Amino acid sequence: MTTSEKVAYLKGLAEGYGTDPATKEGKLLATILDILEDLALDQEDLAADVAELGEGLDAVSDDLGDVEEILFGDLDDEDEDEDDEDLEISDWDGKTVFYDIKCPACGETVTFDENDLAKGSIPCPACGELLEFELETEDESKDE
Ligand SMILES: [Zn+2]
Repeated sequence: MTTSEKVAYLKGLAEGYGTDPATKEGKLLATILDILEDLALDQEDLAADVAELGEGLDAVSDDLGDVEEILFGDLDDEDEDEDDEDLEISDWDGKTVFYDIKCPACGETVTFDENDLAKGSIPCPACGELLEFELETEDESKDE
C-alpha cells in the first residue's frame, strides 16, 4: 500500500465515522488529511523523478565508458602489457630460458640465459669478445 493509498483510506475512514466538517475538529482533520494527501503525492512524484534520474545517470555512465575506451583503449589491457615487459623473459614455465647467439668474432655459438640477457652483454667464452644484445621487445625500460 502506497502512502497516498493509506491517506485515501484514512479519508474514507474519517467520512465513515461521520466526522462533521462543520466543527472545528472536523475542519482541522479534513485540512490535515488534505495536506497528507498532497505530501504523499509529492513524495511519489519525487520517487519517480529520482528513479528516472538514476536511469539517465546509468546511460551517461555507459556512454562515458565507451568514450574512455575510444580515447584511452582498454585500460586493463594496457596495464597487462606493462607487466608483460617484465614477464616476457623470466616467466617461462618457471624455468630458465636459454638463448643462442653466434659470436661475430669467432663464430662460436654462445648460449646464455635470461640473466645474461638482462645485463645486456656477456664476454664470449671462446674468444672473450664482448657480445652485446638488445632485447627484441621495443621497450625503453632497459635504461633503468
Ligand atoms: Zn667469440
